[in-house]
Amino acid sequence: RGGHLLSGDARSLSQEPDGRWRVETANGPLVAGAAVVALGPWSDAIYGPLGYRIPLGWKRGYHMHYAARDGAKLNHPILDADVGYLLAPMRRGVRLTSGAEFARRDAPPTPVQIEVCEPTARRLFPLAERLDPEPWRGARPCLPDMLPIVGPAPRHPGLWFDFGHAHHGLTLGPVSGRLLADMMTGEQPFIDPAPYRADRF
Ligand SMILES: Cc1cc2nc3c(=O)[nH]c(=O)nc-3n(C[C@H](O)[C@H](O)[C@H](O)COP(=O)(O)OP(=O)(O)OC[C@H]3O[C@@H](n4cnc5c(N)ncnc54)[C@H](O)[C@@H]3O)c2cc1C
Repeated sequence: RGGHLLSGDARSLSQEPDGRWRVETANGPLVAGAAVVALGPWSDAIYGPLGYRIPLGWKRGYHMHYAARDGAKLNHPILDADVGYLLAPMRRGVRLTSGAEFARRDAPPTPVQIEVCEPTARRLFPLAERLDPEPWRGARPCLPDMLPIVGPAPRHPGLWFDFGHAHHGLTLGPVSGRLLADMMTGEQPFIDPAPYRADRF
């Protein structure tokens, strides 16, 4: 309630002589007493130049949408745990998902898992033609213990970290935001924040 959405490049983040944080936005510079780094797999663009060595890695994933043959309809998701893929009914078509790929975030795409799973998926459900020119690709921001970092940046007062939510960032967004808000406003955190501190690595 009461927030404003402004767009800008987070890499413009800098610290003012009085310690406040500044970013350049499409509406001009924004200066505030506190800033939160919540860039998911791109968070290293901010903490790296500030001197933090955080072992953030990426588990990439792919998906492709298909039409259905003969008016077939998929009414619920199907997990093929043996081969390692999921078919899900989406607005765009039937979505085939891959498993996780360990790779650098920006390495060229290698959607081999989609290629491997597709023939098996076609035996399970009457998939027709592909609907996307290329498989979609995303990168899950992962830390070695598979917990996010939520809390203050250890050496920069007023800067906060909230990233590394791995496979569960959509699910964890609300509680992660609540925990961070508790800490930023000086409330008693609703859970122990120690497991998520940045200096555990
Ligand atoms: C294939 C796949 C399947 C997944 N399935 C699930 C699931 O089923 N359930 C679940 O809970 N989670 C799932 N996730 C994980 C979830 O998507 C992430 O954990 C979550 O998106 C992380 O949220 P975030 O806000 O930290 O980062 P993001 O959602 O990645 O958002 C980061 C934002 O920062 C922006 N950004 C980057 N650089 C800059 C910059 N320089 N300036 C300004 N903005 C910038 C990006 O454009 C992006 O909008 C999945 C992820 C993948 C890849």
